[in-house]
Amino acid sequence: MTNRPQLPPEIARRRTFAIISHPDAGKTTLTEKFLLYGGAIQMAGQVRAKGEARRTRSDFMKMEQDRGISVSASAMSFDFDGHRFNLVDTPGHSDFSEDTYRTLTAVDAAIMVIDGAKGVESQTRKLFEVCRLRDLPILTFCNKMDRESRDTFEIIDEIQENLAIDVAPASWPIGVGREFIGCYDMLGDRLELMDRADRNKVAQSISMKGLDDPRLADHVPADLLAKLREEVEMARELLPTFDQRSFLEGHMTPIWFGSAINSFGVQELMQGISTYGPPPQPQNSAEREISPDENTVTGFVFKVQANMDPKHRDRVAFVRLASGHFERGMKMVHVRTKKPMAVSNPVLFLAADRELAEEAWAGDIIGIPNHGQLRIGDALTEGETLRFTGIPSFAPELLQTVRATDPMKAKHLEKALMQFAEEGAAKVFKPAIGSGFIVGVVGALQFEVLASRIELEYGIPVRFEGSQFTSARWVSGAKSVVDAFAETNKAHLAHDHDGDLVYLTRLQWDIDRIGRDHPDLRLTATKEMM
Ligand code: GDP
Repeated sequence: MTNRPQLPPEIARRRTFAIISHPDAGKTTLTEKFLLYGGAIQMAGQVRAKGEARRTRSDFMKMEQDRGISVSASAMSFDFDGHRFNLVDTPGHSDFSEDTYRTLTAVDAAIMVIDGAKGVESQTRKLFEVCRLRDLPILTFCNKMDRESRDTFEIIDEIQENLAIDVAPASWPIGVGREFIGCYDMLGDRLELMDRADRNKVAQSISMKGLDDPRLADHVPADLLAKLREEVEMARELLPTFDQRSFLEGHMTPIWFGSAINSFGVQELMQGISTYGPPPQPQNSAEREISPDENTVTGFVFKVQANMDPKHRDRVAFVRLASGHFERGMKMVHVRTKKPMAVSNPVLFLAADRELAEEAWAGDIIGIPNHGQLRIGDALTEGETLRFTGIPSFAPELLQTVRATDPMKAKHLEKALMQFAEEGAAKVFKPAIGSGFIVGVVGALQFEVLASRIELEYGIPVRFEGSQFTSARWVSGAKSVVDAFAETNKAHLAHDHDGDLVYLTRLQWDIDRIGRDHPDLRLTATKEMM
């Protein structure tokens, strides 16, 4: 990844990113402060989480409820320092869902938030690994420095060792816990002082001529100043200095220390994204690489969300624009069905004013309301046939049977399940023989999330039970081969929500046997997105 200075200014100023963190590290608080400094909300405290609902609903959805306005469930845009920030939400609950992975295919960078007392936690590590697969540049924010936290060197060492990435301090904390007074900005030689009395107040920032500047003593108590000088000297000797190229290639992360709740360190982090963060990057397709500055508009669906408005059963497809300058009303081609599609009512999630999108550029995320035509992985172009690659599909690892506790509601349950399958929230299989549905997921908690959503959004209480099957394989091959196979294996067959044939079993032995008996048949653990 490199910066491309030749990008048109409207594209070059865009920063599309996600925040990754372990629950409770402070993602919501940080998001709120971003919106505050992005001019999107007037007062902090409007995004607060309420109780447990936050674990099953996206944080932005909660924001939408709290603020009573239509932001979005998945993406928000705001301006800062001449840059357009597109912040894409990663789902908040602690189990791992496919959604999270896919979201990370739509961004160019990520902010990793860690808790200064806890360091790198399990979910952070998992999400980090996904970012690494794509070599995403990562900025680190070490939060909650106003509380007792670990030693600065220890935190940095842990990240370096645990995540195998170089860590370059962008700021250095002064004092710990109750004694924490602020940071020394190592990239810009400034003293940043936190205001504990007013949580929304921007830190006082004083320019310094390096660490020997005598004016430091006017603001920092002697013992803390001595420690700061000693530590920074050690840090400069022992730790790598920030290198933008290494950062953009995903090998180095700059780290800022701060306290989101005290609005401290947040603007410096935003400045970091503006100054060093990557502009929209080229995207890969099976056919060719797509550069953001191409004239024609292209984009791909990375997320589908149903029931954003409980009154309508419509869906919104979230599209990352890969190239071009999009204008409302444009005629696009939906590549999978080869059908034209006039995009007349796209939503751009501008946090400050919630207008329909009149225009958008490569790097932006637009929401397209639709009735189900748009699926995850679909491409939109001005006519060219493109298949975007890199949007992962996952093999369902856990299968369970789902039933409505009230048998009268079985028909409605089918509708609900189909919608979740289209969203990509689960795989749903309808057995060829018998009744009921089998649901496949990647993480066990997804069953609980699904059960609560089906009840909440459709009013259908459901029960998940163990299934006689443990593995699913998509069946493909020449029609005659597939038909012959289907004839003799009915008890094991099901169809997914697209009507594609799936073989279910509990024995690896079955799968091996089929491989031998039907060499022309293909069994795959994942289904291609396209
Ligand atoms: P999320 O689960 O990552 O979205 O975390 P939240 O933003 O909801 O924060 C979790 C808890 O940590 C909340 O009680 C916050 O008030 C608190 N918190 C967030 N930032 C800070 C901080 O800088 N200092 C302290 N002391 N608490 C914080």
